[in-house]
Amino acid sequence: MPETIRAVRGMNDILPDESSLWAFFEDTIRTWLAGYGYRNLRTPIVEQTDLFVRSIGEVTDIVEKEMYSFVDHLNGENLTLRPEGTASCVRAVIEHNLLYSGPQRLYYNGPMFRHERPQKGRYRQFHQVGVEALGFSDPDIDAELIIMCTRLWRLLGISDVRLEISTLGNIESRSIYRARLISYLEKFHDVLDEDARRRLRTNPLRILDSKNPTMRAILEDAPHLFDDLDEDSLAHFDALQQILHNQGISFEINHRLVRGLDYYNRTVFEWVTDKLGAQGTICAGGRYDGLIAQIGGKPAPACGFAMGIERILSLISETGTAEIRFVPDVYVVHQGDTAAEFSWKVAESLRDEGFKVVRHSGGGNFKAQMKKADASGARFAAIIGNDEAEAGQVSIKSLREIAEQIKIDLTKVAVFLQNI
Ligand code: ATP
Ligand code: MG
Repeated sequence: MPETIRAVRGMNDILPDESSLWAFFEDTIRTWLAGYGYRNLRTPIVEQTDLFVRSIGEVTDIVEKEMYSFVDHLNGENLTLRPEGTASCVRAVIEHNLLYSGPQRLYYNGPMFRHERPQKGRYRQFHQVGVEALGFSDPDIDAELIIMCTRLWRLLGISDVRLEISTLGNIESRSIYRARLISYLEKFHDVLDEDARRRLRTNPLRILDSKNPTMRAILEDAPHLFDDLDEDSLAHFDALQQILHNQGISFEINHRLVRGLDYYNRTVFEWVTDKLGAQGTICAGGRYDGLIAQIGGKPAPACGFAMGIERILSLISETGTAEIRFVPDVYVVHQGDTAAEFSWKVAESLRDEGFKVVRHSGGGNFKAQMKKADASGARFAAIIGNDEAEAGQVSIKSLREIAEQIKIDLTKVAVFLQNI
């Protein structure tokens, strides 16, 4: 026997029983996004490696150790499976000059790839929905993005999440802060972990993002970026808070929120839950006013967020919203050649009327088929023997309520089922 081949570690199959929850999520977000005027952008899964290096930043977890990069041996190009969606979105917006016709509200949905240590809520192929508002500079758009999240949580039945926000200021205020942070951290040079020591000179703000408990303890008393903020960024942050207050959205300010990507400035935010253990951030984003220019576009401000679909779905399952699975309306059972022939017509004509119909396949007597009908969760069985088939009739049996089985003409079945 040949050895079995398994899926790549950290990359999951989504099986039919789970995929109905995915379908519920996807249906929900489509209407949700349309409700706010966001339109879908679909970009390739592979991009030039440089795109991510230049946008996410060289000294970040993603670029240093998480990217699936390879050389295309046919033409020598350096390519990468996308680890996130904003860079591709911005690339496409620049390439197709989408901002020419004004600001854009866009979203994407699809798989992302990061070579991380797989664990619950952290995979090597995972999925994100990302929402990007490009060409907008006012804090009202930051607020819109946050407000729309609160609606999504409501639509999905999620209640155990809290909002953390902060601001990173502009480049100048960050460089003043950078110096202060370095001199604070130098005092702990001997106890800094390897990552932190390396980043101390290259990208010290990244250290604030560390998940190492020893680093986190050291960071307790670290200076706050907040104290070095420029006036415009402060005003922007105040205005955002004002809108959130007025709209009844509660939040906490988390001074240590820096996000794992370099392109953010001003507003950053995360939606966090305590229900998923260490992988508690279900959605994260912020403003990235410099990114479009940084990768070659005409300067334009922008703001966006991405949410991890796996984490959101496991939150939905864990907080116990009703089971969402495919259930047919009608299961068609049939026995005998004439009945088999007629069963096609019955199934198709019910589908014409909008019913979800499963036609039995695989033979067996009525008793065995009725067991399958029951297990399918269908509300009704449509039972067809040769006698029924010859008379153009169907016996309808309710599988969920006590009711008499009744025999009716095929032409009347749909109306009968609609009114029961
Ligand atoms: P973390 O701190 O958990 O590593 P991150 O800051 O790297 O997250 P982002 O790049 O901001 O994550 O991505 C946005 C969201 O995508 C995260 O909040 C999370 O919900 C989800 N996400 C990120 N990486 C993974 C992964 N490897 N597996 C599953 N979901 C992920
Ligand atoms: Mg990460």
